[in-house]
Amino acid sequence: MSTSNNLTVSWEVSLQKLMAGNNRFTSGKLANKELGAGRREELLKGQSPFAVIVSCSDSRVQPELLFDQSLGDLFVVRTAGNVVDAIATGSVEYAVEHLHTPLIVVLGHDHCGAVKAAVDGGAAEGSIGAIIDKIEPSLARAKAAGAAGSQLYEVATDENTMSTIRDLQKSPVIQHLLASSHLALVGAKYHLGSGEVVFTNTSK
Ligand SMILES: [Zn+2]
Repeated sequence: MSTSNNLTVSWEVSLQKLMAGNNRFTSGKLANKELGAGRREELLKGQSPFAVIVSCSDSRVQPELLFDQSLGDLFVVRTAGNVVDAIATGSVEYAVEHLHTPLIVVLGHDHCGAVKAAVDGGAAEGSIGAIIDKIEPSLARAKAAGAAGSQLYEVATDENTMSTIRDLQKSPVIQHLLASSHLALVGAKYHLGSGEVVFTNTSK
């Protein structure tokens, strides 16, 4: 895998591209994307994705579709509940360190089944418990903030997005690049019904 020329693309430009793509998605005016042999041939020379998206594995939350992007545009890390462990964090590090991708977006979403499982409690089978364990502190913070009833799911979801941002900020590789101002790390929330992505903190 080769490196890229992404240092010439600022995180602000990357963010604008995502917002414009989501506007096309919600308005149903999708861009014509080159997905044929020509584009694949071009990408054999290397990849230079302009954004890293850390999102939920939920089949309704597909970053390439909801940001209306094509082959080679996004470096995507997906886990149920958009939580990160060492492998997921390493994947993000690879993109920002070696591909020079200038923007990381942690993308939560409403009606998240993983967050719901944490809120509803009960036994988690197999390795699902590892995901629930990761979300539980966010649930505790949501409760401590006074969230209850149906609101608890959404507040816990937002807390969980922030928690993943904090986890990524602990990576020395990511920390170093954030300090250099070549990289930004932002949170966002996808709304299943409207198709809209709302960026929650875009100030780095
Ligand atoms: Zn989810």
